[in-house]
Amino acid sequence: MSPAKVLHHVFGYQKFRGEQEQIIQHILVGGDALVLMPTGGGKSLCYQIPAILRPGVAIVISPLIALMHDQVIALQQYGVKAAYLNSTLNSEQTRKISLQLRQNELDLLYVSPEKLLTTRFLDFLAQTEIALFAIDEVHCVSQWGHDFRPEYTQLSILHQRFPTIPRIAVTATADEPTKKDIITHLGLENAKIFTASFDRPNICYRIVQKQNTKAQLLEFLQTEKHNNDAGIIYCLSRRKVDDTARWLAQQGWKALPYHAGMDKELRSQHQMRFLREEGIIIVATIAFGMGIDKPNVRFVAHLDLPKSLEAYYQETGRAGRDGLPANAWMAYGLQDIVMLRRMVDDSEADEQHKRIEQHKLKAMLGYCEITTCRRQILLNYFGEHLATGCGNCDTCIEPVSTWDGTKAVQKALSCIYRTNQRFGVQYLIDVLLGKKTERILKFQHDKVSTFGIGKELNNNQWHSVFRQLIARGLVSVDIEGHGSLRLTENSRPILRGEEQIFLRKDIGKKQRSKSYSRSSQWRSFTGNDKILWDALVNKRLNLAKAQNVPPYIIFHDSTLEDIVLQQPQTLAEFANLSGVGAKKLEHYGKIFIEVLYEHIIKYGVQITEKPITLDRETIISESAEITINFLKQGMSIQDIVMERDLKYTTIYNHLAVGIEVGQLELEQVITNLAEREINEIEDYFLSQESLDVLKPTFDHFDGIYSYDILRCIRASILYKIK
Ligand code: ADP
Ligand code: ZN
Repeated sequence: MSPAKVLHHVFGYQKFRGEQEQIIQHILVGGDALVLMPTGGGKSLCYQIPAILRPGVAIVISPLIALMHDQVIALQQYGVKAAYLNSTLNSEQTRKISLQLRQNELDLLYVSPEKLLTTRFLDFLAQTEIALFAIDEVHCVSQWGHDFRPEYTQLSILHQRFPTIPRIAVTATADEPTKKDIITHLGLENAKIFTASFDRPNICYRIVQKQNTKAQLLEFLQTEKHNNDAGIIYCLSRRKVDDTARWLAQQGWKALPYHAGMDKELRSQHQMRFLREEGIIIVATIAFGMGIDKPNVRFVAHLDLPKSLEAYYQETGRAGRDGLPANAWMAYGLQDIVMLRRMVDDSEADEQHKRIEQHKLKAMLGYCEITTCRRQILLNYFGEHLATGCGNCDTCIEPVSTWDGTKAVQKALSCIYRTNQRFGVQYLIDVLLGKKTERILKFQHDKVSTFGIGKELNNNQWHSVFRQLIARGLVSVDIEGHGSLRLTENSRPILRGEEQIFLRKDIGKKQRSKSYSRSSQWRSFTGNDKILWDALVNKRLNLAKAQNVPPYIIFHDSTLEDIVLQQPQTLAEFANLSGVGAKKLEHYGKIFIEVLYEHIIKYGVQITEKPITLDRETIISESAEITINFLKQGMSIQDIVMERDLKYTTIYNHLAVGIEVGQLELEQVITNLAEREINEIEDYFLSQESLDVLKPTFDHFDGIYSYDILRCIRASILYKIK
């Protein structure tokens, strides 16, 4: 089989994405590869397909023990022979898998690095036919990120002990220092590097100025209609996580906390519920998220500023892996900058490390304060160039205006200077506004020249000015932690009047936030479509529960969306939906076609379009009449569907009515079945006690004949026996 065949037959996808095919080919012929691709880009297929095609078992090294189970189940749903080995298994389970391995029954084996590195396991591997090594989340080898795993640095042993086996290392972290670490630590100097674009076009980025964070969060969730959506909310501290989760729950949202300080049992229970149930919001510290491959996370919200753009990108990237629209929302304010600056300054790290952290913070702040497209600056940071604004971020959707803040900035700076660089933001604002507070009078700052010279701006506007000064590094916040501001070298030219400065005009409180996101189609389903959608989602959830797996492992939202839009009525039609491979077709095809059929019976055209007999006079709806006439005039069914802009099912319903009242011959409607086939179907119908239900006949013929066709054949029987 070719990679394209496997993609289609096993995974049910039509086309490779980006460089997937080249990567797969490279591994198939025995090459090493380093794959840098954003979250949701499709890294897993890059090693799963070669694992299926190459002889022997592929060893996948992953740090995510808690998630291995789901990864393996997901593969098994596709009919791929996969298993995992880690410390959560008991000896009986381990023994069973070793046996499968020995008998060469597995295509993929997921292992933790600790397990892999045991002498026993390595010796065992030496006697096993190995297809390839895949190293997932390979950035864990680098000390730069916060995911550092010391065991990863020992994985170079793979190359030493198994030099001929191809290795593929994958990650969504692509900055230069990390990349260098990966290559040197793992001996990947000869690996081919594949770098995908890091753009995530379906994510809408937005940042609001902190005023009342909780109220703002709630407004965001409501305007974006995230009521039944899964989402992640990041906070810096454990206390804030607990507090926010509790508060959201009180407001009626399904929110659960997650942080490293929690009871381990409860924590993994919360993660499990997030994966298994629909519409759970996790409020978490950064301890949550790596490897979470739930595809339908619809939003990621930050209530505190991340330390770097890398972290922000990773965290927001957990939204919308399925490619459907998703939101990245953040509330950001003066306190964030002060706090992070202090954290960087106070950190124990050496000078060089500190400088790097400062640099990263600067880039993060620049991103927050930018008045042009956010995606442009984000991609730019990762070395990519986006020629025009993206149209899917706040600054593109609602352009920010700037104002000449030179005068105001001069006033602010000289106020800092006149009060001897010993006071914090609120005090300075009070001086500028000419407030005679107790403290101001005590320090006699009502006597300084800057007292009361800033009345043209209000308190909020001054906050905005100071925030931007700090963010731009024109002013620093003292290290001792009292929050007093000091001038920096950079502020001199402005104080001396040699430089103009333009500031961002923050959107005022009055302006109501509006919904930004482009929506997935299913969100706008109404009426019957919405009822069908809910029925499909419900069926998926029940199937998932029965097998104790996450619902998305059965089908993604996009597949269910396709069912509503395309209304597949045969297994062949069902197989054409994206995400339906052979195994899933076999397991779930009939089940979902049945949901669709029952829906049509209950709500669809069927009921209204049934011929109504009143005292022997048969009444056919006007709409059915039109369809029947079109067919009589020689139009094909396809043309009628196009012409009338109705669904196939509706048209077939009209035609079935026509057959049932004797206006049409069965052969006029069904043209592509042999007489023998029709006879067989009729015989089966007649062998049953009742003609009311089609399902037994549909199942009997294994889904080859659509409900539409069966309905027409039944109509002709009804006509004949009337
Ligand atoms: P990553 O590991 O890079 O974050 P995944 O491998 O989990 O991403 O893939 C993200 C989603 O995209 C998965 O649901 C996967 O099934 C889907 N996907 C991957 N490749 C394709 C493709 N060629 N066509 C359609 N869907 C794909
Ligand atoms: Zn933009």
